Amino acid sequence: MNTTELAEFLHEQLAADEREPGGWSRARELAEVDAKRGLITLLLDTTHTVCEDPWYTCGAATKEREGERCPDNNRRGHCDCGRDRLVLAGLQLLALPYAERPGYQAEWAPNA
Ligand SMILES: [Zn+2]
Repeated sequence: MNTTELAEFLHEQLAADEREPGGWSRARELAEVDAKRGLITLLLDTTHTVCEDPWYTCGAATKEREGERCPDNNRRGHCDCGRDRLVLAGLQLLALPYAERPGYQAEWAPNA
């Protein structure tokens, strides 16, 4: 699969959405909700990097999440593989359209 083509398709669809006057149909709104729920699940299910040599395994990897190759006595606590940064950035972007709603915290803004 060519991810570049898929990304280009998505950019074209988003540009069309920007040009489109008026609101979306209810079916389209629900499809957007489903897509965002899928992205949240995808992000949260992303695992830390695990390597054959435990030295290179992410310091936040756990036996519970990443499996038996991650003894908890190897944990350094912080994520040094980029997983946590990616998950946070993705969730921040997904939350941004809701920034005006009660409960949104200013510290969740990207680059806050
Ligand atoms: Zn990590």
